[in-house]
Amino acid sequence: MSFTLAIVGRPNVGKSTLFNRLVGKRLALVDDQPGVTRDLREGDARLGDLRFVVIDSAGLELVEDDSLQGRMRRLTERAVDEADVCLFVVDARAGVTPADEIFADILRKKNAHVILAANKAEGRAGEGGVLEAYALGLGEPLRLSAEHGEGMDELYHILRPLAAEIEARRPGPEVDVAVSDEDAEAETYHAPSAARPLQLAVIGRPNAGKSTLINRILGEDRLLTGPEAGITRDAISVGTTFMGTPMRIWDTAGMRKKARVTDKVEKLSVADGLRAVRFAEVVVVLLDVGIPFEQQDLRIADFAETEGRAVVVAANKWDLEEDKPAKLNALRESFERLLPQLRGAPLVTVSAKTGKGLDRLHAAILKAHEVWNRRVTTAKLNQWLSAMTEAHPPPAPGGRRIRLRYMTQVKTRPPAFVVMATHTDAIPEAYGRYLVNGLRTDFDMPGTPIRLIFRDQG
Ligand code: GDP
Ligand code: GDP
Repeated sequence: MSFTLAIVGRPNVGKSTLFNRLVGKRLALVDDQPGVTRDLREGDARLGDLRFVVIDSAGLELVEDDSLQGRMRRLTERAVDEADVCLFVVDARAGVTPADEIFADILRKKNAHVILAANKAEGRAGEGGVLEAYALGLGEPLRLSAEHGEGMDELYHILRPLAAEIEARRPGPEVDVAVSDEDAEAETYHAPSAARPLQLAVIGRPNAGKSTLINRILGEDRLLTGPEAGITRDAISVGTTFMGTPMRIWDTAGMRKKARVTDKVEKLSVADGLRAVRFAEVVVVLLDVGIPFEQQDLRIADFAETEGRAVVVAANKWDLEEDKPAKLNALRESFERLLPQLRGAPLVTVSAKTGKGLDRLHAAILKAHEVWNRRVTTAKLNQWLSAMTEAHPPPAPGGRRIRLRYMTQVKTRPPAFVVMATHTDAIPEAYGRYLVNGLRTDFDMPGTPIRLIFRDQG
């Protein structure tokens, strides 16, 4: 089993130190001073029983005749192209910088499989930076200390199932799907725990009832860990448990003002809420059931989807409704019509004021989180793909037959799938939707955006 891992990130975050640790020889140059010009270098790495090739993309330092950005971009893109997996390293002590955001963008555009690592996380000095790293929107940061060898076990546990998956999809077009080992591939879902609380944001327009809802969730829990003010400039969070599930609720300026008074969360602007989305795994889009699905609600919901977050739509102030069954039908109908991109996302009714429906909300949040982390095995996907194309073959525009050859899930959080195909430019959008909707129904994936990418195989 073998694969290639690229270590990417801005200068001085500890890429070479990590490379050395993985390769075990002092092959790469480590230097305190940025400015030493280096290029991509490879080594044979071992971690537990894993053997793989590691590429160090250090050497992104400024060269006189080149812009940092240009050089950084080219080297990173090269490393990404050569690798199966990218380990994106940020410096937990320095926190997230604009350069880190540029890297995150490159990785997103390249649709690379990314493991986010916050290095220099030994001791407590890195805590803030680790939390900031959530804002990169690349999921839970792995805490590493390349210098002290901390976090290597966790890295192993992340790489292990990936290695199996990469191996399973390696054979390419000729792949015999029957041979891929489902168990080796299936990733175990980590339910939220005290160590990995579920990251939640509640967004919605003013007066939807966000503060009331958050206060109710916090109020249920006497073991509030208190807001952590000043960790980042633009977001703060509070740890709590919601019906027994450890959660971290992301919030913004409003909470910070009240950093020492936790019994009343201040009103938040919509913009604050949108910022909190970046930190969240699950986003609750809160509607005022009296005036649901207005323009502002649609924009907010669309934003959460575009950002790739798991979404639960909650219709609040349900206590005010008289004809509940009729209203629920009307809500469902508007939801389907106005938010087709969130098709299948759970719609729950709640009353933040009375607390009714919070159990349903809690269940929907947990389910959405699980689905967002879901991995479907390659074998199952390919069986499914042949059934789908048989039931409904892709069109043959101008007589050119589109062949969908092979499919695999390339990442989770949210789930993303790649379909190897011919004439990808001729595949109609509607056919993509047919597949996405099919994935959602057949693999029971409500409440999560699903990304589907066609990759051309000529
Ligand atoms: P690169 O430019 O990303 O390859 O970074 P280097 O590997 O050259 O490391 C830059 C500096 O960070 C060096 O002084 C390292 O000793 C230091 N460093 C690397 N990893 C760690 C770590 O885990 N903790 C701490 N405190 N320092 C580290
Ligand atoms: P925010 O601006 O979204 O934070 O909204 P608030 O939490 O401040 O709530 C706006 C208003 O709606 C307040 O007067 C709340 O008391 C009221 N409200 C919130 N939730 C409910 C609910 O479930 N039922 C009813 N009847 N009123 C609610």
